Amino acid sequence: MDYQEILTQIKLEILPLFKEGKVADYIPALKEIDPKQFAMSLQLFDGTSYNIGDVDTKFSIQSISKVFTFTMALDLYGENLYKNIGHEPSGNAFNSLVQLEYENGIPRNPFINAGAIVTTDLLVNKYKDKTFKKVLKFIRKVSDDQSIYYDKEIAKSELQYGYRNLALVNMMKSFDNIQNDATKVVYEYFKHCSISMNTRQLSRSILFLANHGIDPITNKQFITPSQAKRINSLMLTCGHYDASGDFAFHVGLPGKSGVGGGIVAVVPGVMSLCVWSPQLNKKGNSLIGTKALELFTTKTGLSIF
Ligand code: GLN
Repeated sequence: MDYQEILTQIKLEILPLFKEGKVADYIPALKEIDPKQFAMSLQLFDGTSYNIGDVDTKFSIQSISKVFTFTMALDLYGENLYKNIGHEPSGNAFNSLVQLEYENGIPRNPFINAGAIVTTDLLVNKYKDKTFKKVLKFIRKVSDDQSIYYDKEIAKSELQYGYRNLALVNMMKSFDNIQNDATKVVYEYFKHCSISMNTRQLSRSILFLANHGIDPITNKQFITPSQAKRINSLMLTCGHYDASGDFAFHVGLPGKSGVGGGIVAVVPGVMSLCVWSPQLNKKGNSLIGTKALELFTTKTGLSIF
């Protein structure tokens, strides 16, 4: 398959869509971005990668970080994790408060904000003040890249304007589903959301999920095959909030989006991918990114179905 040619076709075909989306503006530091950027990277098992567009430009990974923190928490807590967080799609927006009250402060899944905040709280239980250092270390390890860091301005901006996330953490605290200081936990969460990476780094970072938890390039085992199965299942059913069904319908791959405009996706047994374009659709997922992945699976036949 000529992957470079396929990427070239995709880049041409998404051009007319640049008028349609809108960059995230509820985090002021994110709205400064040039909206007309696009990058896509494919990472194969033999170490080959294919890239197109602004592949060296780093962006805020935002909710893609939830995949890494959930992976860490699953490894630490195993099945006990599901006492604090569910594994069903929410059918609600990523920052919704409504369902959380009905369901006694137990978030539906780890990929909505409430679920990711509980995940971070569980990491803080274990790692205390070293939590962010540990998260960064884990991401650097799976990416095989020590240069990865976070953007302090974005983290501060999130804290300053994070009214909804503060509401979520406090609501969960009232139900005893947050054990540490609420503001501290949410700031830890903002820090890992503010990690900056490009599509090359992100596609590399999730390659282990395409290969049952083992990095096929270095042969390092990061998690068990069963844990990798759970994470991929959750990416498929919950990775795009209330548009998860739509993403599965159009793209047909496990994937996780972030409001920075990135989406990672996995073709089990074959490759991992990342696409980035900052303009979002109404559900908070990259509009062009989703379309690019749909074009990719249509052109290559590489969906899981
Ligand atoms: N940090 C963002 C928030 O909490 C993450 C949301 C996202 O990427 N969907 O609002």
